[in-house]
Amino acid sequence: MTKLRLAIVGAGPAGIYAADILLKAERNFEVSIDLFDHLPAPYGLVRYGVAPDHPRIKGIITALRDVLDRGDIRVFGNVRFGIDITLDDLKKHYNAVIFATGAVRDADLDIPGIDLDGSYGAARFVSWFDGHPDVPRSWPLEDQEVAVIGNGNVALDVARMLAKHADDLLSTEIPTNVYEGLKASPVTDVHVFGRRGPTSVKFTPLELRELGDLPDVDIVLYDEDFDYDDAARDAVASNKQVFVIDKVLNKWRERPAGTASRRLHLHFFAKPVEIVNDGEGRVGAIRYERTTPDGQGGVVGTGEIRQLPIQAVYRAVGYFGSPLPGVPFDRKHGVIPNREGQVLWKGDPSFGSKSANTQLYGVYATGWIKRGPVGLIGHTKSDAMETVRHLINDLGNWWRPESPSEQSIVDLLDERGVQYTNLDGWHRLDQHELALGSDEGRVRVKVVPRDEMVTISRGVR
Ligand SMILES: Cc1cc2nc3c(=O)[nH]c(=O)nc-3n(C[C@H](O)[C@H](O)[C@H](O)COP(=O)(O)OP(=O)(O)OC[C@H]3O[C@@H](n4cnc5c(N)ncnc54)[C@H](O)[C@@H]3O)c2cc1C
Repeated sequence: MTKLRLAIVGAGPAGIYAADILLKAERNFEVSIDLFDHLPAPYGLVRYGVAPDHPRIKGIITALRDVLDRGDIRVFGNVRFGIDITLDDLKKHYNAVIFATGAVRDADLDIPGIDLDGSYGAARFVSWFDGHPDVPRSWPLEDQEVAVIGNGNVALDVARMLAKHADDLLSTEIPTNVYEGLKASPVTDVHVFGRRGPTSVKFTPLELRELGDLPDVDIVLYDEDFDYDDAARDAVASNKQVFVIDKVLNKWRERPAGTASRRLHLHFFAKPVEIVNDGEGRVGAIRYERTTPDGQGGVVGTGEIRQLPIQAVYRAVGYFGSPLPGVPFDRKHGVIPNREGQVLWKGDPSFGSKSANTQLYGVYATGWIKRGPVGLIGHTKSDAMETVRHLINDLGNWWRPESPSEQSIVDLLDERGVQYTNLDGWHRLDQHELALGSDEGRVRVKVVPRDEMVTISRGVR
């Protein structure tokens, strides 16, 4: 019987769902899957993106772990595609590869002053508070007035983590250095800026509602933002999610002015146009243009510029994928170019196919690197179904590897001295973190330094 030796690069939800779906799919060939990730621990943004005070979503890790625990997927953590293994290596050892490498860096925001000291990308901050091993351990939380640019769930996560009192996060899995950093933060005001109106936000109602329950944090809204036009009123009437968001915001408007020590301001119809230098190269203020509805659900600038003093700014305007060596990349959209998960390339210009998008056989994509950084974890499942369907149907065009044995890739990694981790290693690290947590009455305490994660996983303490 034909056997598919499949490499999946990226052990986030998209990669794990793809493996699971393939193993359960109706097919007339055997399957053997190796799942690679450059981090020593699996689960991608579920571990290193989802906020620590969202334990229900973090709990998706349990379902993903159940898939891996079945034992029919080999896990190789701490293996960097492009450094420890290359596309040519994969071609030698596998019939096909699925890239599920997600998107981990911040999209750019091209306004003057965005590079000043005190201006940060949300993705870096998220990585810091979620204990990602590749970001610095300390974070400069020294400012009283802070802006967050963006009107999606990541902006809300960032604003909430900045505004929340550290002791209200103590029961979660935040690393100790994060707790200490947040505990020392002198922040009093967090200002969230969205260039559109309250009925056009990308927050989900659940995330928004949560803000209203933060202890000792008042939500501040501005009446001028709630003068709806017909398009906004139609949106409230016709869209359940918008209806709920509008209801939540209006309920907050009716609350009497609070006396909390911290405030979280939601500014709508406010388009940031410049981060103002304080004279010493640091963030001193944010300038924004007041916008107004354009009558069709969008906004236009009014020309009225306002300025608010701030000392730090976080841009949460989206994530962006990173190119992988040897793999086609769409620089405009930050994705691997693909047709329903089948990776495409421009062809070889010398053959006259410069503009043609030809399928790059054997190479597939799924998850955020396939369709861009939007959507929830659940959406990566439907992505994976589509990609796997094509992989199965493409059987005649798979690579024909010269060393397909399962041992050969292990030998290669050993030869190269790669300190890879495996599923047993994850269990060891998981148990270790849970034990650290239970000693302190917390869910878990994350191990942050990469070398410590590897040492614990490989059981060589
Ligand atoms: C801040 C934030 C909060 C979120 N909160 C929620 C939420 O509450 N609920 C929800 O449903 N969704 C949430 N999401 C969305 C969710 O995280 C994504 O939908 C999902 O993680 C995308 O899955 P993925 O597998 O495509 O990418 P990822 O989860 O990013 O996984 C990609 C994996 O590929 C690995 N990788 C990358 N490059 C390489 C390489 N060169 N070599 C080897 N491995 C590599 C990475 O280490 C990672 O493990 C959130 C996202 C963010 C950014």
